[in-house]
Amino acid sequence: MAELLFPAPEVRTVPVEGTEALYPVHRIFCVGRNYAAHAAEMGAEVDREAPFYFTKSLSALALSGQVQPYPPGTSDYHHEVELAVALGAGGFRVSVDEAGAMVFGYAAALDMTRRDLQARAKDKRRPWDLGKDVEGSAVLAPLTRADDFAPGTQRIHLAVNGETRQDGRLDEMVHSVPEIIADLSLYYHLRAGDVILTGTPAGVGSVTPGDRLTGGVEGLQPISLTLGPAL
Ligand code: MN
Repeated sequence: MAELLFPAPEVRTVPVEGTEALYPVHRIFCVGRNYAAHAAEMGAEVDREAPFYFTKSLSALALSGQVQPYPPGTSDYHHEVELAVALGAGGFRVSVDEAGAMVFGYAAALDMTRRDLQARAKDKRRPWDLGKDVEGSAVLAPLTRADDFAPGTQRIHLAVNGETRQDGRLDEMVHSVPEIIADLSLYYHLRAGDVILTGTPAGVGSVTPGDRLTGGVEGLQPISLTLGPAL
């Protein structure tokens, strides 16, 4: 094999509850506007026909419990607590019925967002990347295997410095996990290692350096994030 010019990108992994084995992440997909009350607070409506997506680079991945710097280029960094779905098998053009078997596990997640840059992008009809694909902005708690968790009516919640900001239930999701996987598989050859953040309930808001975010999804490992000084 030819020598590499510089070190290859490192494999990025997430812990899995009950095992020493690590889950290697391939891609991070995110669903937009999957809770009607959150869509409304953003001045938008849910598209009930189909979900829509944006992506985050692997370099956006961060693990729960870390301190992440307040990112550059924003003065309105927002929290969004979400259910993450981690695929353990691939699929292309799968049916909703087939999609469930592709799930390896679930985790609480944060889709941290430069809201001011996302709003500017919307105004100018530009892509959302600067608002969404932020280094350290895709925070994942340890995964729980699908054998031990099935999305239902569980509470999904987030507090900032101990004060509850987001408090919803997973059955408020407009597009279910199997529906999302089946739809996404129309556009991508999904594979093990692909992680999907499934959208946030209402109550998103701004955080500042020094804030501590804590929350989770009932039945899954809790998630936390501390914001360090601005870069
Ligand atoms: Mn989100």
